[in-house]
Amino acid sequence: MVKSRRVRSRFLYVQCNKCRNKQVVFGCAKTKVGCLACNTPLLIPTGGKSALVKNPITKLPNAHILEILDKNL
Ligand SMILES: [Zn+2]
Repeated sequence: MVKSRRVRSRFLYVQCNKCRNKQVVFGCAKTKVGCLACNTPLLIPTGGKSALVKNPITKLPNAHILEILDKNL
């Protein structure tokens, strides 16, 4: 028998702090996610989850999360 497991995907609605562009990103992305408008890196993968990229100078994240969109697939 195949064990059925509910796959939970988390999507994040984020806003770029540089150009204010809003976009939906996958919260468990395996690759870097950049802003679609200005190309600033917004999220980096860290052990299966995505983390907000912080500016090394200002220590502020390049984006902030407006909403967490949970979807049960
Ligand atoms: Zn941007």
